[in-house]
Formats: sequence, structure tokens, C-alpha cells
Amino acid sequence: MKLKYLKKLSCLHPFLFVLLPPLILFAENIRELIVTDTLRTFAVIEAGTALVFIIARIIFRSTQKAGLFTLLCAIVFFSYFHLGQVLPELYIPITESFIIGKHKLLMPIVFLLAAYLSYRLYISRQRYYKFSAYLILIFLLLIGVNILGLVENLPRKIRSTKTVRTGTTLSTGSQFDVYYIILDGYGRKDVLKEYFNFDNSDFVNFLRSQGFYVPKKTQTNYIQTFLSLASTLNMDYIPPLLEKQGPAIGDAALLRPLIVNNRVTQTFKKYGYDFVSFASGYEPSENNPNADIYYYQHGSLNYFEYRMLNNTLLRRLGVMLKLDLSKVARNRFYFNQEKLREVPLMPQPTFTFMHILQPHPPFIFGPEGEVTNKGKVFSLNDGSSFKGTIDEYRQGYINQLRFVNANMRSLIPNLITNSEEPPIIILQSDHGPGSMTNWNDGVKTNHHERMGNFLAVYAPPAIKNKLYETISPVNLFRVVLTELTPEDFPLLEDHSYYSSGPEPFNFYEVIDGVFQYH
Ligand SMILES: [Zn+2]
Repeated sequence: MKLKYLKKLSCLHPFLFVLLPPLILFAENIRELIVTDTLRTFAVIEAGTALVFIIARIIFRSTQKAGLFTLLCAIVFFSYFHLGQVLPELYIPITESFIIGKHKLLMPIVFLLAAYLSYRLYISRQRYYKFSAYLILIFLLLIGVNILGLVENLPRKIRSTKTVRTGTTLSTGSQFDVYYIILDGYGRKDVLKEYFNFDNSDFVNFLRSQGFYVPKKTQTNYIQTFLSLASTLNMDYIPPLLEKQGPAIGDAALLRPLIVNNRVTQTFKKYGYDFVSFASGYEPSENNPNADIYYYQHGSLNYFEYRMLNNTLLRRLGVMLKLDLSKVARNRFYFNQEKLREVPLMPQPTFTFMHILQPHPPFIFGPEGEVTNKGKVFSLNDGSSFKGTIDEYRQGYINQLRFVNANMRSLIPNLITNSEEPPIIILQSDHGPGSMTNWNDGVKTNHHERMGNFLAVYAPPAIKNKLYETISPVNLFRVVLTELTPEDFPLLEDHSYYSSGPEPFNFYEVIDGVFQYH
């Protein structure tokens, strides 16, 4: 009786198989993701599998056959994209408008083969108990191997940090609204000139004419987004911050608590500021549970879900239907630009954090906001992971940067004029561009380009006067918060570090653009 029950259960192997693709994608992108971002994906995939299984059960009138058919569908669904990647390009023009590419051949072949196998399964008289049982074992084994790979990344220390919210209000002076806008990968003026042959004087002069201080020799502390954000927002270098931090799966997840629950925001909140945050499309800075006001568009996919979708047959259908896969990101940009204009009208003092992914790749905007990257994968890959030539990088980057400039030109005067008290506006990049960044080799990286980050600060003279030409992000809020609060945040020495993609916490100092071996 019991054995029979187990035998019947063996038809559930597709439910195990479908766990593998998201698990593998998660393991591949563990630096940028956290576990909770994947939950919706797992749920949708399992629900879809159940739906196919139920329909197949009705058609095949056998749970074992239904299981195998569901597995076949899942294999086609998840592997089609990878199959297409492996096969060489094909280009057979029949007429000028009708060209046989590889998908025009691959798609019918795959579907005919799947249909043939389904038919054989339908007329088969076998019961497949043993076969299904083997599949269960194989899939369990593969899931186990993948989970072990993830667990290996678990740090050993126990998490100990906790936020303290007191809610005291600054008794002296007025409270300015503070806007902290990160333009991801935006390069310093001399960097843009030297490597991109682009003169950004117009924009820099515009900022200066508005009253901004734009230092000429700023240099970032870290060349990777999540390191730079965690460091800047906690006003400290990564090693001492990590010591206080506890276990999580993956590097980004390790720093996500530091980004979400950071010292700068805690300090503002302590002195009565409301924390305003925006969806960014970049997981470590998204969905901040500590935000008093959080702007996001309903129904949009997170980064993991987007990547997952792009790895399935749906991507091919999307291309066929000419769906614009970067549209969500474009909409988010416009949505955020519009919503930010509501913040100056709020009566309470606010600290606003907005992480704009542009001008960092992918290049989804032309200089006038034209739709680019159409039909291509939306991928944040930068530096040596960027898919394209160095010229494509440089051209796409400058086009997107010009679009960002145009938007900032319209946004900034709006924020200033609509604020009752003059606000504090910080435009800053987490690092410079990455046309010559090598993720595996610090020696092959152009540090002048990558570390040449951008900074522009609109603030009362008391703050502006304390900023200096070579200031690095770690000291930015030390200056601002020392002035705005009764607390004292003494300046640290400015240092810059390279760390590779595979070993983000193995830091090498870079002095005057020269990589230091040690
Ligand atoms: Zn970045």
C-alpha cells in the first residue's frame, strides 16, 4: 500500500526539475541578489507547472504520462534560449523582407520534435514508474548540489546590528530637505574628455550657475556598486562594516542590510526626517523596508524575475512580438523623475534617496530619450562583462549620459524653486565608467576611468566650504551630517580600492591610478 503511494508520487518530478533554472540563475548572480527576490519566481513557476500537469492529466489520463509531458514542456520552455545561444547564427535571405534566421528553423524543429515525443508518449503502453523514480533521484541530486554551492557562500558570523529609532527632532535651526541622487557610473569631467572624447562643460557649468560645488578630483572608494553604496551610506570603509555584519547568502545579500539599514538614513531619521526612497531596479537598493515613503510602479518585475524571463522561451516570444524588454526600466526612470517633484511639496523634512541606474549599461536611452537596446537582453553587465565593443560602449554611454543631463537640467531647478527652504541636493556617482574595467585583473583595469566618479553638491555655504576637491564618497555625509546634526563625524583618510568580480572583498589599494600589489 505504502509502496504504491510512493510510486504514484514519482510523477511529480517536473515540480523538482523546474526549481533548477531559477536556482542556477540565482547562484550565477548571487552578488546582486537576495533570496526573497526569487520567491515570486519560484511560486509562479510551480503554479505554471501545476497548471500544465493538470491539463496533461486530463488529456493523457495517466499521472505518470502527465508528469513526463509536463517535464518535456518544462525542458523546452527553459532550454530553448540556451539552445539558441549555443547554435551558430544563420542568415539565408529568401526575399528582401523574408530572411531565414536560426530561430525560424530552430523553433519548428523543437516544436515538431516535442509534438512527436508527446504523441509517442500518448500511444505508449508503458507505465514509467521506474523511469520517473530515477528522474526524481537525479533532480534531487542536482538541487542538492546547487544548494550546497549556495551554502558555501554563507558567512560564519552572527548578525548583530539593529536599528535604533528615537525620533528626536533637531532643536536648532531649520531642517533642509536633502536629496541624494546617485547617477550610476557617471564619469568625472576629465574622464569623459580623455576616454570618451566628450566635453561635459555645458552641464558642469549649468550646475555651477545653479549654485552647485563640483569638485574636480573626486575619486571613488570602491569600483563596484554594492560596495560603494554600502560604504558611502555608512560613512565608513567596508572591512570595519563587515565585522559588524552577519550571515547571508551571497555577497550582495551580505551588504544589503548595510545599504537598506544604513547609518546615514538612521541619522536623518533620528533627527526627525522622513526617509523617501524609490524603486531602482537594482536589488540591493530596492524595496527598502525602512522607507517612510516608497515610490514604485505596481506590477513591475524585479531584476531577478526579468533575468529569469529572459532565459526562457518567453524571451523568444517577446522578440517575435517585438516587445521592448527594457521598457520597464525606461518607465521606471520617467516615473521616478515625475514623482521626485512631489517631494519638495511635502511639509515634513525629508531625506530622499534615489538610485538612477543610468548612464551605466545597458544603454536603453538615446540622447533625446530615444528607445535603444530594443529586443536585447536587459543586463547590468559592465566592464569586461559588457556584451559589445569598446566603441559601442562609449557611444551608448555618452548618448545615455546626455539624456541623463537633459533630465537633471529640468529636475534640479524644479526641486530648488519648489522648496520652501533651499534644499541640499547631492548628485553623485558610485564609480566612473567601465569601458576599460577588467573584473578579473586589477592590472588590466584603467583605474583613472573607473575611479573618476562624479560629485556635485548644492548646499548652504557652511557645508560647501567644508567639501574639498579630492573628497571621496566615504566622507561626503560626514561633512553633511556634522553640519546638520549636533553630532560630530570626523573625516577619514580618502583611499580607493580595486576588487575583482569573483573576490569583491579582497581589496587592493590604488594610489594615483596605480594598482598596488600586496
Ligand atoms: Zn554602479
